[in-house]
Amino acid sequence: MSPRARIGLAVLLALVVLVCDACSGAKTQPFPSPWADRPVVSLGFDVAADLHSATGQETVVFTPDQATCELVFRNWPNKPTTARAGNSLVVDQVTVDGQEAAAQNSADGAPDDAPAGTLLRIPLATCAQPGQHITVVLDFRLTLGEDVDERIGTSSTDQIAWFGTAFPLLAWERGQGWQRDPAVPVNGEMAVSEDFRLTSLEVTAPSKFQVMGTGTAAGTRRGADAGTTVHQFTASAVRDVTVTVGQLDVTDRTIDGVNVHVAAAQGTETDLSAWTDEVAVAQKALVKLLGPMPYQDLWLTVVPSQSSGIEFPGAVQFGAVDPNARAPLVAHELAHMWFYGLVGNDQGRDPWLDESFATYAQLLTAGGDTPAFGDIPQADRRDVGKPMTYWPHVRHPNTAYYDTVYNVGAAALLQARQSAGADAFDAAVREYVRRNAYAVATPKDVEAAFADLPQALAVLREVGALPSAGR
Ligand SMILES: [Zn+2]
Repeated sequence: MSPRARIGLAVLLALVVLVCDACSGAKTQPFPSPWADRPVVSLGFDVAADLHSATGQETVVFTPDQATCELVFRNWPNKPTTARAGNSLVVDQVTVDGQEAAAQNSADGAPDDAPAGTLLRIPLATCAQPGQHITVVLDFRLTLGEDVDERIGTSSTDQIAWFGTAFPLLAWERGQGWQRDPAVPVNGEMAVSEDFRLTSLEVTAPSKFQVMGTGTAAGTRRGADAGTTVHQFTASAVRDVTVTVGQLDVTDRTIDGVNVHVAAAQGTETDLSAWTDEVAVAQKALVKLLGPMPYQDLWLTVVPSQSSGIEFPGAVQFGAVDPNARAPLVAHELAHMWFYGLVGNDQGRDPWLDESFATYAQLLTAGGDTPAFGDIPQADRRDVGKPMTYWPHVRHPNTAYYDTVYNVGAAALLQARQSAGADAFDAAVREYVRRNAYAVATPKDVEAAFADLPQALAVLREVGALPSAGR
């Protein structure tokens, strides 16, 4: 080989490396970066040996993008459906920048007999300016109800405890401020949170138990108390956290580069390999439809007393459903990794932004029993965009909420896709996901995403998901 050829080859190789770098960069960084000033959270849970309670400490470094004279945290375990099942979250002590702070806890939808309310307000000694760092430390106690069909609970029989959104959640929305909507007695989520950097999640539990967390596992160490182990996790950007602790069977499988961990209580003899197969099928179909999986790790737990499924960023609690119902459930909950996990929304103000879209993606990839748009009576083609505070006031709130926000919303999105053309619609959805990654989306963002697809906008307006034209 001549020197010139060698130089030519070296240049060619360098170009290939450059191009490949760009390729793999595009593959691993398909979304815009998270908010640089996002809250920085470290969170610790110390789980009791009987799996019925935990103590915790949360440190948040918050950098507001608007001036504020207070901090607001939401204690969602005290919302009606979880509080009535015996769960509670009580904050005992708060410090702000090293000084003890007086926190005001108010019910905001919590039942009268709940040990604490859903809203914690902490007035600041001095108002904070945009860009200022505020360090808040909250000590809290968590009590878990027995055999709960919800996101927080414990099972003495099966030796498993699961707790999602079970810490004071900073209720800030960029450009908006504090979210104070009351909790309502309807089966559904109401929380909103910006993504935060989870520098450390540490779960201390008796060493005989396994622990499933959120983010990436970062090792274990011996706990301060004899017979305990500290399990560490970390995540660059998540908007919520869930943990499972117990006598678990766990299956780990890498699916197209994603580390999938599936667990269930040992006594339940759950077919973990069947669940993992279903996850593989759903993940492949959803990635094709929506774009890359937003999380490197998926922590999935089959919870014995749950009847459906509950989504968290990079994690899901699944109900122990009939095998025939598994495929649509898995597809629905995994679709939430894009709609709610990556593209956040205020689940109290705009629940359709995650539930209608997740059901839509589920129907396209795994089917389900949602009626076709044409079979939905004209009178029911409305209310998709209503907030959670609307639903307690209608007949049969839980059914009405589900039938409308999940089913009418999803059927409308399918109809919108058909009217606008599948290719154009799918491309617009993928662009909506990319553009709103790591943010809290609003119906206006959907409107913008479908701006070139007036047929799609017309269907969404018809069902009340978007403001009427001209408003
Ligand atoms: Zn859902």
